[in-house]
Amino acid sequence: MKIDILTIFPEMFIPILRTSMLKIAQEKGLVKIQVHNLRKWSKDKHKKVDDRPFGGGPGMVMKIEPIYFALIDIVGNHFPRSKDASSENNQRTEIILLSPQGEKFTQLTAKRLSHYGHLVLICGHYEGIDERVRLYLVDEEISIGDYILTCGELPAMVVIDAVVRLIPGVLGSLDSLQEESFSSGLLEYPQFTRPADFQGWKVPSILLSGDHKKIEEWRREEAVKLTREKRPDLWKKMKRKK
Ligand code: SAM
Repeated sequence: MKIDILTIFPEMFIPILRTSMLKIAQEKGLVKIQVHNLRKWSKDKHKKVDDRPFGGGPGMVMKIEPIYFALIDIVGNHFPRSKDASSENNQRTEIILLSPQGEKFTQLTAKRLSHYGHLVLICGHYEGIDERVRLYLVDEEISIGDYILTCGELPAMVVIDAVVRLIPGVLGSLDSLQEESFSSGLLEYPQFTRPADFQGWKVPSILLSGDHKKIEEWRREEAVKLTREKRPDLWKKMKRKK
């Protein structure tokens, strides 16, 4: 997979792209991530990428031109794009705007995006981005939750982390993806590690029994119990599906 990020703060991505799973995924050649400074495409002599809002009001709005020219260079296409409906998912380029007004990001969204060949993420700032970017240039608008952050860089990192770990070969064990929260509609069962007894707080004895069938049953029951307690909304959805 290829991921291109359009941002006015490229330095924000350095630590996260050089650490842990994202570093390993790039080293293994499973994902190529490029961070682009949007100012490179500004035609302004001071490299400005924002301007005052038409109609007045507080703050500044990110301009469409630098984003438009950046996308033409990165996607190698003109707008409106001619999308080949027959092209396979792994050939697909998806242009994504990070925005608090977008569709809420979930594990299902992450799974869908992990099948695409190329993601382009646009990070907003200030009061937001000229609406014509959403109307004419992007394929989808993603929000990471109902709250306002200063910028789209943190949401872009959230999306990249959640998507890249789902690419086959990135994580050591596929089992961890199958059993984790949201993959089956339930939260994951509780996990414990050594010591078996800490300050009198004991690990459930079934986990030390070596009886794999019983452990599996216990885990399933605990997953159901935790989901009903912590996320009744998920539990209701599960029951409706049955
Ligand atoms: N004025 C906008 C509004 O009220 O909808 C909010 C702009 S916000 C301060 C600046 C940028 O941060 C947005 O353009 C977007 O890229 C990003 N952003 C902020 N909160 C976000 C969220 N919950 N999900 C995704 N992106 C977000």
